[in-house]
Amino acid sequence: MNPNEDKRPELRDLSPAQVQELVVALGQKPYRARQVLQWLYQHGAESFEEMTTLSKVFRERLARAARLENMAPSLVEASADGTRKLLFKLQDGLAVESVLIPEEDHSTLCVSSQVGCRMGCAFCRTATLGFKRNLRPAEIMGQVLAARRLAEPDKPLTNLVFMGMGEPLDNLPAVNLALRHILGSHGLAMSQRRVTVSTAGVVAGLPALAAASPAALAVSLNAPSDELRSRLMPVNRRWNLAALKKALMAYPLKPTRRITFEYVLLGGVNDQPAQAVALARWLQGLRAKVNLIPFNPHPGAAFERSAPQRVEAFQGELIKRHVTAMVRKSRGVDISAACGQLAGKKAGTAQVTLE
Ligand code: SAH
Repeated sequence: MNPNEDKRPELRDLSPAQVQELVVALGQKPYRARQVLQWLYQHGAESFEEMTTLSKVFRERLARAARLENMAPSLVEASADGTRKLLFKLQDGLAVESVLIPEEDHSTLCVSSQVGCRMGCAFCRTATLGFKRNLRPAEIMGQVLAARRLAEPDKPLTNLVFMGMGEPLDNLPAVNLALRHILGSHGLAMSQRRVTVSTAGVVAGLPALAAASPAALAVSLNAPSDELRSRLMPVNRRWNLAALKKALMAYPLKPTRRITFEYVLLGGVNDQPAQAVALARWLQGLRAKVNLIPFNPHPGAAFERSAPQRVEAFQGELIKRHVTAMVRKSRGVDISAACGQLAGKKAGTAQVTLE
């Protein structure tokens, strides 16, 4: 059957309440919904047959009423540093990527929220794809569940960043439901401090994100003036730095939490000491930390990576002004898996194909 004609809902596109409605409509007691959800998210079940605490008759009814669209990467590329880029083919033939990054005692997954992106940032490879479509919650969860299976046993998947392809706040309903599955006790129950949503600055989405989810927030700032930011990030023409700051000042943050600001360092463009000073000034009043990301090159990009001494000087100016600033180590550059390099294509290096 053409999956586009399959009218059965994919279970991971449903909220817990909707799963319960479905279960009740199939003649079961409401508590059976809990069991279904446990199978989906705690056990990572990929078929109804696996759900052995449910009666066979119910499992068969469930299979007629709902579907499970499991996502397994069609390609896994491994970087010399252990980072793995997962390529997922979607049912309509489009593709998205996630990046699984091993750290000392855990793994972090960088997930995609859209196929392509509408933001059009001048330095980002995903922008060159244009926008194809939003991902459904089940397609976001598919990446997460697959990565959880692939993570090394001594480095379990505990951290998630919505920093893959797409703009999460441009697909908020799906991202919010996925966040419920990721953080909720019915779901993966991941720690809210370890799940980060990153936005290019879609100000209109911030109140709805805050209302729906306690996840950590990151903002890709990348320039301390409207003139430059509008040139690098067209979203700034819609919501400028003043509008962004106003919305962030109002963003509800728990007392010990801070907003992360990502700042891609582009050689000779936004990496001058005076720009660090302007950045520190702009951040005043915000509980902030800055992640400096030396530009990762990609084919056709019109920018260069800042020289290491420039990066250091930029960081130094921030620290001098009491701004917490870290330089993000780029992982997976050799397989085009680093920040801003995702384009749903293989890099043409060491590959492991999964059957
Ligand atoms: N759209 C969201 C989520 C993507 S996050 C957002 O913009 O926040 C991707 C991060 O990678 C952003 O912080 C972006 O500024 C950064 N980035 C994009 N292209 C890059 C590149 N070529 N090198 C380094 N970082 C890049």
